[in-house]
Parts: sequence; C-alpha cells; structure tokens
Amino acid sequence: MNTEKIWLSSPHMGGNEQKYVQEAFEANWVAPLGPNVNGLEIDIEKYLEQSSHVAALSSGTAALHLGLILLGVKAGDEVICQSMTFSASANPILYLGAIPVFIDSEKDTWNLCPIALEEAIVDRIAKGKKPKAIIGVHLYGMPFKVEEIMTVSKKYNIPVLEDSAEALGSTYKGQKCGTFGPLAALSFNGNKIITTSGGGALVCKKKEDKDKTVFLATQSRDNAPHYQHSEIGYNYRMSNICAGIGRGQMEVIDLRVSQRRAMNTFYQAIFKDNDEVSVFKEPNTDYFSNHWLSAIVLDSYEKREALRLALEKENIESRPLWKPMHLQPIFSKYPYYGKKVAEELFDNGLCLPSGSNLKETDKLRIEKNISSFFTTFANL
Ligand SMILES: *Cc1c(COP(=O)(O)O)cnc(C)c1O
Repeated sequence: MNTEKIWLSSPHMGGNEQKYVQEAFEANWVAPLGPNVNGLEIDIEKYLEQSSHVAALSSGTAALHLGLILLGVKAGDEVICQSMTFSASANPILYLGAIPVFIDSEKDTWNLCPIALEEAIVDRIAKGKKPKAIIGVHLYGMPFKVEEIMTVSKKYNIPVLEDSAEALGSTYKGQKCGTFGPLAALSFNGNKIITTSGGGALVCKKKEDKDKTVFLATQSRDNAPHYQHSEIGYNYRMSNICAGIGRGQMEVIDLRVSQRRAMNTFYQAIFKDNDEVSVFKEPNTDYFSNHWLSAIVLDSYEKREALRLALEKENIESRPLWKPMHLQPIFSKYPYYGKKVAEELFDNGLCLPSGSNLKETDKLRIEKNISSFFTTFANL
C-alpha cells in the first residue's frame, strides 16, 4: 500500500501568505479587523470586476446566514434552496426558523432546475406563501443556468442569494460567479480553491448592504460610546491573521483556477474512450468552471462504489457527490419539487482528486489505478 495519501482537495499556499501574517504580528493587528481584512476585501472586489462590495467573514456559512437576514428572512418564511449541495447552503435557513423548500437539479450543470424552480414558486404562492429568497449554488464550480434562474427571479420578484462557495473564478458569459444576484457567499475553507484556513465573504451589489453586513457581523453595535444594541448581533468578522493568508492566496487565484481546470482535462483524457463513465464538464462555451472538484458519473451505483473502494485501498481519496438535502434526515420533512436528477447523480457520481498541488507522480498513480480498475471490473 502506498503510504502517501492523495487528497481530494488540500490547501495550496502561494508563497506570500506568511509575509502578510508577519505584517499583522508586527503591527499587532491580531484581531478580527485590520489592514489584511480591508486589503483582502479590495483584492476580491477587484477580482470580481463588477464594482461589488465585499465583507470578509469568519465562514461561508456565516455569509449565507447574514445574506438571508439582509434579504429580510424571518421565522416562518419560506426559502427556496437547491437540494443537491452541501448542508451549509441550507442550515442558515433553519438558524432563522425559516422553512426550506428544496428543488431538484437539471442534468447540464447539476444546479437549480429552472422548471422545477418555477413550479415550486407557483405552488407555494397558491398555498398562500410567497418564498422570500432563492439559494442557487454553483456546484463544484459550475455556474448554474444564470439566465433562466434570473428570469424566474425577476418574474416573481424573489431575490437570488448565490452560494458561490465553490465557484470563485468561474464565469458565465465572461461575468464572474458571485456577481449575478444582489448577494453572494464565498468560502475560504481549507478545502476550497483558495483558503484562509477558515473564512468566507459576502459579496454585495450595494454599498449599504456591505455596511449592514459588517454591522451585524460585529455584534450590531449602535453608534454610542458605551455598548448599545438595538438589533441581534453576530461575531462573524474575519480575523486579520486569516485575512493575511487570503491576501497571499489572492495573488495566485488565476493560477489555481488553471491548475484545477488542468485536472479536469486530465480526467477527460483518461475517460475519453470509456463509455461507462462521463466526466462533468461545461455544457457550452458560455460556461467556464473553475473545476474546484472534478467529478464523474458511472453507469451504475455498484460500479461507482467499487471504484471508490478500489481507490481507497490505494490511499487515494474520492467521494460520492453531495447527498441531496431532501434525502437528509434533518431536512427530509420539508417540501421538495422536481424529479430524480439529483438522486441519480448522488447514486452514480464520484468526485476525484482535484487539488491544484497534485504532482505528476500522483497523477500517474491515479491514472494507473483507474485503468486497472476498469480492466478488472470488465473481467469480473
Ligand atoms: C464550503 C461550502 C459552504 C460553506 O462554507 P464554509 O466556509 O465551510 O462555512 C457553503 N456552501 C457550499 C456549496 C460549500 O461548498
């Protein structure tokens, strides 16, 4: 057995992270505010190219939580959410005592199905409650069907909170993910395309939304010499130390995107002549994915599971796709609209090692084990 583990997605430093962290120590900005926090926000704003206003926060989950608060979501309200996603997309709905309404995926981008989305909105309105917000996810870096989703959003006047946690660097028709809705969440967790060890950000179209986010994230302090509060506050601001890591990472974001995309090209080549497997890719040239994770779909659950176990035996990490939220014990009692697209993807799909720091020797090991699996499996 190979002792060195090949990870699905591990942190990949650019080189200047410690310089920014060092500066924070030297200036004693060891706090959840400071020059790195402001600097990181400006770096991201420039990168997104859409005159956005960015608030750096302690996590992507915190960004989604505050995003829902900014959209006015209160206890008892309904919030539409893509079912096929990580639980952090949906948990903040429950933090607020609101009700999630889950939507199936479509087959092209694996994200919000615009048809099921509209069906759900029409049905919820008929049942007497218009949903307050739509959480759409750019899963594995793949942009959702931006035009279709934004058309439904406009038609019913329900804002989209983009969960862009996996999609920094992805674009639709040349525009960066995270700039389509009034608000978008980014994540800099250790497994994401760039990291601050743990962290996130809320991208706001309007300056006053950013100001409100920072206010809420720093305990909602009113303007007074003493501590005075008229609203519930949160401790969600990013640490200036973490932001220093983020500043170093933003220097290499474009490189990381091209490295992740190269991993997808690598898998496209491996499976080119394999009709048992399809590699997840952009439906057409309007879509540009950062390919945060490369994923494949096999032609049966049994084969998917056998491949996963075969790789595990060789110390190569792979993972089934996100288990849809409407199948999760904590969320199964909430409404669901759609068919079985997400369920089938969950049954047959597998994420493969996708890190930007995988070495040529790692790639050889992956390739060798995948091809020997298909030779053996075919002969069983
Ligand atoms: C990682 C992730 C989040 C949460 O981000 P954290 O920074 O880990 O809180 C939310 N949504 C999706 C789709 C994610 O992948």
